[in-house]
Amino acid sequence: MARLKGSCRCGRITYSLEGEPTRIGICHCTDCRQESGSAFTFFGVWPASSFSTSGETDVHNGRRFCPTCGSRMFACTDDEAEIKLGTLTDAPTALVPTYELWVKRREKWLSPVEGADQYVEDRRSG
Ligand SMILES: [Zn+2]
Ligand SMILES: [Zn+2]
Repeated sequence: MARLKGSCRCGRITYSLEGEPTRIGICHCTDCRQESGSAFTFFGVWPASSFSTSGETDVHNGRRFCPTCGSRMFACTDDEAEIKLGTLTDAPTALVPTYELWVKRREKWLSPVEGADQYVEDRRSG
């Protein structure tokens, strides 16, 4: 079974993931763009029981980040952990998006991920 590790830029926040993700996606929405400071977010969702972390994160709107270096890390509910996959230690990863959200806001120089479901907006409205 796969085990993945990640950390923030300064190393104060670390985490690990056991087993297979529930889903892997890319999101081009305004929230993700502004919050990440980049053109899209590459994220994965695991059952909360598969996720463990150490170090003190700060939180804004449920999104956790390192208060020292500012790395955006993850968001957790009782059921799920959503991880920003750029924080994984090893790259490239073996994780491939199965869906893309808010493709109407995708940069024109980016191509759709082959085989990934394409949603104009959120999964519900797409
Ligand atoms: Zn940090
Ligand atoms: Zn988004």
